[in-house]
Amino acid sequence: MNKNNQPLVFELSKSGRTGYSLPEMDINAQALEEIIPEAYIRKEAADLPEMAELDIMRHYTALSKRNHGVDSGFYPLGSCTMKYNPKINESVARYNGFAHIHPLQDPATVQGALELMYDLQQSLIEITGMDQVTLQPAAGAHGEWTGLMMIRAYHENNGDHKRTKVIVPDSAHGTNPASATIAGFETITVKSNEHGMVDLEDLKRVVGEDTAALMLTNPNTLGLFEQQIIEMAEIVHQAGGKLYYDGANLNAVLSKARPGDMGFDVVHLNLHKTFTGPHGGGGPGSGPVGVKEDLMPYLPAPLIVKGESGYELDNDRPYSIGRVKPFFGNFGINVRAYTYIRSMGPDGLRAVTENAVLNANYMMRKLAPYYDLPYDRHCKHEFVLSGRRQKKLGVRTLDIAKRLLDFGYHPPTTYFPLNVEECMMIEPTETESKETLDGFIDTMIQIAKEAEETPDIILEAPHTTVIKRLDETQAARKPILRYTKEI
Ligand SMILES: *Cc1c(COP(=O)(O)O)cnc(C)c1O
Repeated sequence: MNKNNQPLVFELSKSGRTGYSLPEMDINAQALEEIIPEAYIRKEAADLPEMAELDIMRHYTALSKRNHGVDSGFYPLGSCTMKYNPKINESVARYNGFAHIHPLQDPATVQGALELMYDLQQSLIEITGMDQVTLQPAAGAHGEWTGLMMIRAYHENNGDHKRTKVIVPDSAHGTNPASATIAGFETITVKSNEHGMVDLEDLKRVVGEDTAALMLTNPNTLGLFEQQIIEMAEIVHQAGGKLYYDGANLNAVLSKARPGDMGFDVVHLNLHKTFTGPHGGGGPGSGPVGVKEDLMPYLPAPLIVKGESGYELDNDRPYSIGRVKPFFGNFGINVRAYTYIRSMGPDGLRAVTENAVLNANYMMRKLAPYYDLPYDRHCKHEFVLSGRRQKKLGVRTLDIAKRLLDFGYHPPTTYFPLNVEECMMIEPTETESKETLDGFIDTMIQIAKEAEETPDIILEAPHTTVIKRLDETQAARKPILRYTKEI
């Protein structure tokens, strides 16, 4: 029944049709009534669609084809690193010894899983230049919060109670100020200069005795490497604050540079971006956090350690901020990341970075004559364009994004970072072929020409999708997440 007490209408349902065959029930009704409490016994049949198995299969397969994924097309969504997720990761994650174990098993019976987690921790320590890593946090934002809670515990344990502020650049990912607020800090914004870098003079002005930490993404969300990172680290450390590295997008520095060597005290990684965990459909993520030695006592418990007789869970951690996730994090994503790191090796990871940066620069240079390039410098894994030239012709970045759907592309990230007008943030990733990159470039050039000659075709886009333009406000505020007759 729906909310108006009307029976649901299922367009594909035919009375009496079934998609299952079960043996006759061999318990009589009276016996059932004795076993099941009265309140739980159904008085009427459930209101379910009646369909054959094949028709259900076709229905769901048709729905799945309406979705866009990395396996179906190019997905240059900036800051999200929509690279190919190798299928060997999936095979390994399905091994019986990984997929069919229980988190409450005696550690002695799951040594292989603990060894994998331990080795993954060690790999991430090496990749980031940190001293210890926890795999518990479930996503990037969760890792940020975990890291900030550790910084908070560190200052409080030193009797330093006045450090209530976290400094965040104006180009930061939205989760940074949000995590700082939820961890109980006040956020202070530091400005970017005309080169898209943190303004050092502004940083000196806002840093002080009340600074708990500076949160930074490097390369930043404009795809630019913060060249004065060593100076920034000195400024913040001299004031007694800690440096937090948002390593969600490590694709531009893997095997080339390490946050630990740049002076950072805490870093989180997104295994579901850089390390090929499938994402984009709201599936599980993993946001491990690495710390330098003086923050190690505060890491979430338990930590996976190597003892005399094998791998153990270390719960004896008196200064720990506690558990941040039931059990040990999203283990299946850890298996995928481990498989990826081991199959690539250090040289493979270096090639990832080189190709990610090469692909982004290639695309940026090819598109620069047609769209405004607000920061004309070598980029790292991604770059931003501004649609202000097209806006003067009456075509906005949102319209360009919709037009791209007609060609089977997922649009880039739009209107972020906030400090670039009509922003398009494009991250091609290293796994795309030159043919794919050229196809997207040609389409973007065609759209730039349409903006001049036939803007209506862009303004009315998308033309080829099942659903046209959504009311985005209603979709966010009043989503319809289950079947109702009213649709
Ligand atoms: C994706 C991203 C995050 C947030 O990660 P989630 O796993 O979505 O919580 C944080 N910072 C940056 C720079 C990101 O790109």
